[in-house]
This record gives sequence, C-alpha cells and structure tokens, in this order.
Amino acid sequence: MSRYTTAPCGREDKDNKRGKAAAASDKAAGKGKGKGKDAAPETLNIWDRSKPEEREEIELYARDYMDFLTEAKTERKAYSLVLGHLEKEGFTDLANGGKIGRGGYLGHFGKLLGAYAPGRLSPAGGFNLIVAHGDSPRLDLKPRCVYEEGSLALLKSNMYGGLKKFQWLARPVALWGFAALKDGRAVDFRFGEDPAGPVLTITDILPHLDRKVQRDKRLVDAFPAEKLNVLAASVPCGERESKHRLKQAVFKILEDRWGLKEEDLISSEIEIVPAGPAVPVGLDGSFIGGYGQDDRLSVYAMLRAFLAVEKPERPLILLLVDREEIGSRGATAAATRFVERLAALALESAGVEPGYRAVLDSLARSHAVSADVEAGVDPTFKEVSDEMNSAKVTFGPAVVRYTGGAAKYGASEAGAEYMAKIRAVYDGDGVIWQSSLLGKQEEGGGGTVAMNFADFGMGVVDSGAPVLSMHSPFEISSKADVWMTYRAYRAFYRDA
Ligand code: MN
Ligand code: MN
Repeated sequence: MSRYTTAPCGREDKDNKRGKAAAASDKAAGKGKGKGKDAAPETLNIWDRSKPEEREEIELYARDYMDFLTEAKTERKAYSLVLGHLEKEGFTDLANGGKIGRGGYLGHFGKLLGAYAPGRLSPAGGFNLIVAHGDSPRLDLKPRCVYEEGSLALLKSNMYGGLKKFQWLARPVALWGFAALKDGRAVDFRFGEDPAGPVLTITDILPHLDRKVQRDKRLVDAFPAEKLNVLAASVPCGERESKHRLKQAVFKILEDRWGLKEEDLISSEIEIVPAGPAVPVGLDGSFIGGYGQDDRLSVYAMLRAFLAVEKPERPLILLLVDREEIGSRGATAAATRFVERLAALALESAGVEPGYRAVLDSLARSHAVSADVEAGVDPTFKEVSDEMNSAKVTFGPAVVRYTGGAAKYGASEAGAEYMAKIRAVYDGDGVIWQSSLLGKQEEGGGGTVAMNFADFGMGVVDSGAPVLSMHSPFEISSKADVWMTYRAYRAFYRDA
C-alpha cells in the first residue's frame, strides 16, 4: 500500500459484506426500510457500500484527480489540460469545419472550451450537457504591482472571487503567470512550485502587536485587501547611488527569468495561488486536500465522464467556463452566447441547417447539469446548515434543486419533472447521491451558472461533490465522493 492509499478498516471484509447485504435489502425493501441488523441505507456511506474492486477504482481515480489539481491551478491550465485530453482522444477543432473525429471542440481565448460528441440521435433533438467552471478564488497581481517600502520589495494583489482574506497570509504561495506581449508572443511562467526552490508569501502581523490593527476589529475590516502584499525581494540591484534599487531587483529577475519588462505586466495575468501539490488527508488518508477543488473537482469528473461514454444515445456537450467566481460576466463566461455557437457548429456537423430556430430548439430540448461543488456539512459549524437538507461528506454528489439566498431570489430552480429525471438517471446507474441545499435560509447564499442555461429553457440542476473548507487555499473532498461524482456525470451523459 502506498502512502497515497486509503487505510482499510480492520473489519473491511465484514463491512463489505454488510454493504452488499444492505444494498440488497435496500433494493428489496425500497428506500430506507432495511430490516434486521442492517442499518438503514441512508446511514451507510459510500465506503460502507462499496465493493473491494470499487475501492481500488476509488484510489486510482483519486490519484489521477490529485495530479490534475496539482497541474491545473489556473483557469488557463485547466483549459489546456482538458483540451489536451480531448485532442488525444481524437476530438478536432470545430472552427476548422469539415468532418469531425470522435467529436469536435471549440475554444475561446484559452479559457472557455466546449466539446461536442455525436450521439445516435440528431443534435436537433437536444444535447446532454454538463458545464463546470475552471476558475477558482485567488489573488491576481495588479497591472502595476511592484513597489518598495522600507527594506523590502513587494507586489500588490487584487482579490478574485469570494476569499476569506486572512487564510492567505503567512503561508507559502506560488505565482502562475501568462504574459501577452505586443509582438504577439506569449510567455507562460510559474514560480514557487519547485519543491527545492523558493516560494512566495504574504506576511501577517505578530499577535504581540495586532490589537489595534486586527484583534479589536470586525473580521472583514481586520484584513484590508490592500494589505495582501506579496513579499518579493530584499537584495538591492544597480548602482549604490541609484534610486529604487529593490524595485530594480524585481524587474531584473522578471527580465532575466522570463524576458518580461515592467510594461509587459500590464498585459499579463499573474495569479497568486497556494504552493504545493494536492495531497491525501486524514489518519486513514480518505480525503483529498488541495487548492481549487471548486470547481476543478467537477471539471475533472465531467471530462472523465465525457470521455467514458463512447456511443451515447443523445449527443453530448462538455462546457468549461470561466469567471463563475465573479458573477459569470466577461467574454469567457457562461453568460455569453458561446453555447449557441457550439450548438450551431454541432448541428452543422450533423448536416442540420443551423438556423436561429434550430439552435434555440436544440438548446431548449437539452438536459443540463451545472456541475459545481456543494458545501458539505462541517460538524464544527453545523449551525449554518439545515441538516435535513445539507450534503454530508462521503454520501456522494449532491443534487441541489435551487441555490440563491433566502426566498430563492436569483435561483433557477429545477422543476419537479426534471428532478424526477435526474433521480431516475442516477438511481438507474446505482449512483449514491443526496438531495441538498446550500445552508440554512438567511445565513448567506450563493449561485452557480445554472441560470445561464435555464435562460434557454433547458432543464438544468446543480450537482456536485460536497466539499469542506470551500474557497479556502486547502479545500477538502472525500475520495469516495469524488469518484461517485464521476459516476453520476457518466450516468447523466449516458442516460439523461
Ligand atoms: Mn463553484
Ligand atoms: Mn465557488
């Protein structure tokens, strides 16, 4: 057993038998009416109910997923990894026209990606569509970010998405950058991920002196965004008489390492993300800890499911969108007309005239899952959850009928008929899943991209794995949930 494998329970064989018996009695007696010594199915989690060969599958899937998380810390990297898998499987660029391979894809600005796989049925009858977002909460460097103060050179950052700011201080962070130059070249660079090399960090104040600046303040005021400055350098550069020698030191490093000049930062996207790989977590190693599981957990599960269904009945769409964490606006976001272009190209490749009416009809006849992680109940903070309606870690992907805040404002709630379809599809494939809502009413709230697809009249529901410490630099998922989420998406692609 490698150090990456989940430790078995001492009573593993017995447990697995019990899992089988429970599953059988579940089937015989209907939902929740297990007899005798068997616990009711809803008290048995995926580990209880999985067979030994499934546990092996869970570990293999978790290993691949952790590699993906480690390599996909930005929306651009998520895009290029997904695109790489599609191309390897014979998918070709729809924008080039002509005959498509196993399927086609359409990319936009290196961040928004759609893929289409033909089915036995015409795309005119609609698609089975899964959409997930490749962006995660992070800090971006400002266009003009380098400054010096006192004895140090620092970099100014800008928040992206819903951060708890204090979680980003006093920890190793890395820099993943993409610079577009005036001559058309692009430079891809990263710093802080070499296990033997330096990392970056954002400093915090010591507790001895934090009373006025932090301790006596409200949490949101105690950590002003403008104080999230990245420690960059301390070795001066240039003539001893010259000015700004620490700033010069930073620019010399940018130039020497990556050929970047100060003004190139204005056309760069430089993201500050937690340093280091995704890792197994827990005494039994049954969790996965890593940055960006919202929403790369769903991205990876969607990709694996998309590629696993080879001859689908209905045509499939995979959609990787950007900017979900900041409201889904912008040229690479779910609120654009991209899915219409993709549908038009899919129709055309199937020999259907892709007129306005045909595109809208095909989208209205589509079935969609908005694949996004869900807040798992944290026993330490259970007061924010309505436990009857909240997702429990190890009990499989959640199906979230509506998000939004209190009173369902802003939610594109899935209708009863569509919920019935999802139940039938997941149950039909033996998926262990749970119905859930995001927390109690009036505790806060949140949304997803579901509404952007509901806009076309298609059935759509949120579904994804429960996660702990969501939006933190170290999000936690269960290996079992991660794998079952892939199973759920595969069932949806195959049977919805
Ligand atoms: Mn999300
Ligand atoms: Mn999020």
